[in-house]
Amino acid sequence: MKTQINPVLFAIATVFIYAPPPVASAAHLGDFPCSHSTESDIQEQQFAVATASRTATSTPSPSFDFSADTSLPFLTVRPGQTKNYTPAMQAKLEKAIRLMEVVLNSKALHDKIDAFTYKNKQQFSDNRGQTNEQIYDSIRETNEGGTQNGIDYTADFNHRLYYKRFTKVVGYTYFGDTWINSNTKYVNGYDEADLAGHLSHEWTHLMGYQHVQTFPYSVPYAVGEMVAELAHALIAQGF
Ligand SMILES: [Zn+2]
Repeated sequence: MKTQINPVLFAIATVFIYAPPPVASAAHLGDFPCSHSTESDIQEQQFAVATASRTATSTPSPSFDFSADTSLPFLTVRPGQTKNYTPAMQAKLEKAIRLMEVVLNSKALHDKIDAFTYKNKQQFSDNRGQTNEQIYDSIRETNEGGTQNGIDYTADFNHRLYYKRFTKVVGYTYFGDTWINSNTKYVNGYDEADLAGHLSHEWTHLMGYQHVQTFPYSVPYAVGEMVAELAHALIAQGF
């Protein structure tokens, strides 16, 4: 079952019958390892655990500059189709999208990406030869491989929910595809900020970033974590 998300109709809750689809297990060329290697599975789980433990701590959130970095055109987050959604997830997605839009455009995220270090150097692992600044620009430019729009300053992706019990995989994507697939076993328990982080993680995969060398320092993990942290800070400010 599919629905087109349209800004006008977005607020109208549509009831979907939840029917967990079978999950394809065959790996094909160009797959990202999120869903297919044991090591990745563990790391995807660790991301969920790290997110959960961070949420549980009561340390006061530092102040971040959430004003938009206007050195580049405004990035719009515009999901297309959704599959297997419930009204509760629809509401959560709506807020996660608003959080993503503020965070992805923010000076705070730009600062964090610029300052990110791996092996005592300002760099990410699995960086495709890009500097931190080039990675930031590429995120803002939103050039997903699966959409033919090129640089359109629009984070466009489709989102499919599935349920798989005996797995540590939170979600997966295929480069060249437009779908983000998320396991409700995990994402049903996410708050809007965690969902914003998770979607950002998977969305960077759609733009070609991977985690092969070292997970926490890769663009999907590091940027996903940054987005979740900043989104939690926004919520703490009453967003
Ligand atoms: Zn991943």
